[in-house]
Amino acid sequence: MERVHGGDAGRTARAGDAVLAGRVARAGDSSVVPTMALRLDDVGAASKQHEVYGVTRIPIGRRALPFPGNFLFLKYLPPIKRWGPYPELTAAQWVDVLTALSDAGAELTVAVTAGWVERDGRIVPFPVKFPDAARVLREGVERGVLEIANHGYTHCVTADGLFRPRLFSGNRPWHREFFDWLPEEVHREHVRAAQDILAGWFGVAVETLVPPGNVLSPKTVTVAAEAGIRFISRAGGAPAGAADGITFVDDTRVLVFHDRDLVKRGPAYLERLLHTHRGTRFVSVRALGRLQTAVP
Ligand SMILES: [Zn+2]
Repeated sequence: MERVHGGDAGRTARAGDAVLAGRVARAGDSSVVPTMALRLDDVGAASKQHEVYGVTRIPIGRRALPFPGNFLFLKYLPPIKRWGPYPELTAAQWVDVLTALSDAGAELTVAVTAGWVERDGRIVPFPVKFPDAARVLREGVERGVLEIANHGYTHCVTADGLFRPRLFSGNRPWHREFFDWLPEEVHREHVRAAQDILAGWFGVAVETLVPPGNVLSPKTVTVAAEAGIRFISRAGGAPAGAADGITFVDDTRVLVFHDRDLVKRGPAYLERLLHTHRGTRFVSVRALGRLQTAVP
């Protein structure tokens, strides 16, 4: 899978990697079961609408020539456009996802951005913005097929309209949420707002944080621990000064893909992914984190 989203997967295992990174022996079970976590990012993130940038180099022979891919409308046109815009997954598509998971006996962690940032800066809770999809996701949680993870409140910097598309440039740098240069209070407000929305709708404690774009600071870790987060799933592991009480889940054993993969390639994408890794036990990120803390 090509990386176009600035490293939400990063060093994390990627869809398409055929190699299993590790094995975990279950307590009381002499057999060894290859176990990985499966994680789907960017559900409910308005960055899929606002994060717009184009290619700025075009390969010609052996050279990569400059190309004004961020100029006006060019950044919206395939194949020049890179990430957004693309639509949110529908309730019907989520039903297909649940079916594919159940058929394969797999669990999935869905990293949800809890607030949808409208173009005027208003923030709408995910279950209000996408009620039908949110209902199917809740059904998946109730059936034990899905874990819901906190993928931030906005996925972007909302101050000064920085998230909005520009006329003459891309806006990718602002579609991360937990920059170290933001005050700790902003980290706290965003983590808590997302926790409240997600726990309120799904009716279960949210224990996993997936920082957008793998960007986080020690401030994020501190406030996450305060807000009940126990596991962080991120390429790159713990930043210096990380708080106690948080387990950074082994990113080499987390297979990451994005809602964009399903929107662009259809539900068959997930079926192929599961088929490619048949023989692997796919669990949630939280379950993998618990295994990690239980195994010496
Ligand atoms: Zn993301």
